[in-house]
Amino acid sequence: MIIDLRSDTVTKPSKGMLDAMFNAEVGDDVFGEEPTVNALEEKVAKLFGKEAALFCPSGTMTNQIGIKLHTQPGDEVLCDATAHIYNYEGGGISFNSGAQAKLLQGVRGQISAQQVVENINPNYDWLTRTSLVCIENTANKAGGSYYSLQQMQELANVCKENKLNYHLDGARIFNAIIENDYTPSDIGKLFDSISVCLSKGLGAPVGSLLLGDKEFIRKARRVRKVFGGGMRQAGYLAAAGIYALDNNLTRLKEDHKRAKQLSVVINGLDYVDSVLPVDTNIIIFNLKENIRPDLFLQQLASNNIKATSFGKQAIRFVTHLDFTDEMLEKVENTLKNI
Ligand SMILES: *Cc1c(COP(=O)(O)O)cnc(C)c1O
Repeated sequence: MIIDLRSDTVTKPSKGMLDAMFNAEVGDDVFGEEPTVNALEEKVAKLFGKEAALFCPSGTMTNQIGIKLHTQPGDEVLCDATAHIYNYEGGGISFNSGAQAKLLQGVRGQISAQQVVENINPNYDWLTRTSLVCIENTANKAGGSYYSLQQMQELANVCKENKLNYHLDGARIFNAIIENDYTPSDIGKLFDSISVCLSKGLGAPVGSLLLGDKEFIRKARRVRKVFGGGMRQAGYLAAAGIYALDNNLTRLKEDHKRAKQLSVVINGLDYVDSVLPVDTNIIIFNLKENIRPDLFLQQLASNNIKATSFGKQAIRFVTHLDFTDEMLEKVENTLKNI
């Protein structure tokens, strides 16, 4: 038994999901004739109360298309210093859009409306034009923490008042929704565009959606093609996404429960210095200074447990659909005996 805690992207399609994929009706999506892709796009747009959606191969692509459409070269994007769009998308803000990021020091990955107000550049020729605010919910590098609806609303108000575009990197938005009393349509009302992933906690093999109004998504289709993301019989993948939304949403709660349970055990280990609060399915903890992370990971690997280092003394574990109670017990015992 291999236990993989490196990410919630490591899940493999279940029998039910594979059956749904196998039975998908397909067509050519570049011609707009992909019935299953169209069905998925309509389903997710409706869920979030947005006019339209676009199926893309990855969350990086949905975010980058969003940034491309919301900025002009030389513009500035406001985001938290831990943001995925800045840290883990290969410098895409500048590479794809010729824009730059201004990094804000948020609290556990969350920036405030006040911070945005303080960082909007006045309209002088010599200053960079601030055009986009991007937030991440849940925040990956910050340990799976989430925004409250009020925080997101306050940011939306500030964006509106200052004519800034407002994008949500919602790769793990369903993890946030499951833990809060807000709904997808509550969130849909706030943002100009939203990116959601099907290949994280929901367990689909591939796929993300970009959501927005009709005009925005029409333009996004063109950018997707230019970025090389126009797909043909993608209904086989979209079918997995539809299955994931129908079957794997509410069970995210189990991943959160297992992550919390595991974090309690990790907190009690004498070689662990600190554990970040666990709000959803991500556990980030720091090993004591005298413990070498590479050797710790090696020991886990020799027990068939895969995990990754997350900078300096930090280690990240992510729970997911293919991480069972039996595996949880094995990880707990291994950690105690290392
Ligand atoms: C995973 C992730 C993405 C998208 O990643 P892809 O691997 O390109 O699908 C975007 N934002 C966040 C916060 C993520 O965790």
